[in-house]
Amino acid sequence: MKIAPRIGFIGLGIMGRAMALNLLKNGCKVSVYNRTRAKTREFEEAGCYVAAVPRDLSGLCNVIITMVENDAALDEVLEGPEGVFAGNFGGNYLINMSTVSWNFTKKLASRCLKKNVRFLDCPVSGSRPLAENGTLVILAGAEKKDLKEMEPVLLSMGKHIVNPGLPPDGTALKLCMNLIVAQLTTALAESCSLALKTGIRPEHVFETFYNSPALNCGYFRMKEKNILDLEFSPAFSLKNILKDVRFMLEAAKEKNLKLPVTEAVEKTLNEGFKRGYWDEDLTAIMKLYK
Ligand code: NAP
Repeated sequence: MKIAPRIGFIGLGIMGRAMALNLLKNGCKVSVYNRTRAKTREFEEAGCYVAAVPRDLSGLCNVIITMVENDAALDEVLEGPEGVFAGNFGGNYLINMSTVSWNFTKKLASRCLKKNVRFLDCPVSGSRPLAENGTLVILAGAEKKDLKEMEPVLLSMGKHIVNPGLPPDGTALKLCMNLIVAQLTTALAESCSLALKTGIRPEHVFETFYNSPALNCGYFRMKEKNILDLEFSPAFSLKNILKDVRFMLEAAKEKNLKLPVTEAVEKTLNEGFKRGYWDEDLTAIMKLYK
């Protein structure tokens, strides 16, 4: 790497906290910002500079990584008088790893071009355990030259980088991946609910998966405990998968593509959201089938 990265990490939620800790473990120089200050305490104790507003990171850092909830949150940390772009950030790197909409990513790419900021559109595949052990898959919409420069930073948080093209192709790929995650989750919930209603134990559904090469899927293993124990502490929240499903439908609509199964999944997730399960793991939709 030609530049010595001085990283500003914005967004220390479930994923961001683990990713920023891995950067620290790998010896990177990291400063942080989080809207809720309490979540920065362990970073302050580890010797990181804690910014009062995102703008403060612009002057200090040459790489800013964002891992916030959605379009509105990313807009808030980048734009406005306290945002990153209000500081002097030209010539530096912005890596967005949050899942935001395809359209927002397109707009952000042209905004960065105007501001002379090198933009990498890098959402991630993998949930909390993979963020914690640094084995995320990074879906990088970026120029090859920028990717090469930022590779050591990205590989401090993940184990593999897929480069489908330029921004917003990372986000497009992320939405394609989460379409499968959303459908697998509802499929799992419906399969196990049918099992219970027909008088068999859902454990036998999982036992069959694991002994069938075509169905022996890591995602099922990750969610087995949630489904069997009806325990829904969040690795990936229901509100965030619902957001992503809406981004998929929005992108598909723009391209005149119908996604009927994804539309049905959106209705199911929305029902879970309305019943108040938004901050629980997405497997909490199991409760809809009771
Ligand atoms: P999370 O735990 O809910 O964290 C969200 C982060 O965004 C927090 O730091 C939160 O700050 C910040 N935020 C929200 N609204 C904000 C605003 N208006 N202004 C400034 N900051 C704001 O979510 P997460 O699970 O870490 O997910 C983060 C992103 O990664 C999301 O886009 C999600 O879809 C994506 N993702 C998640 C997973 C997963 O399995 N969890 C996997 C891949 C991708 P506060 O602390 O102040 O609330």
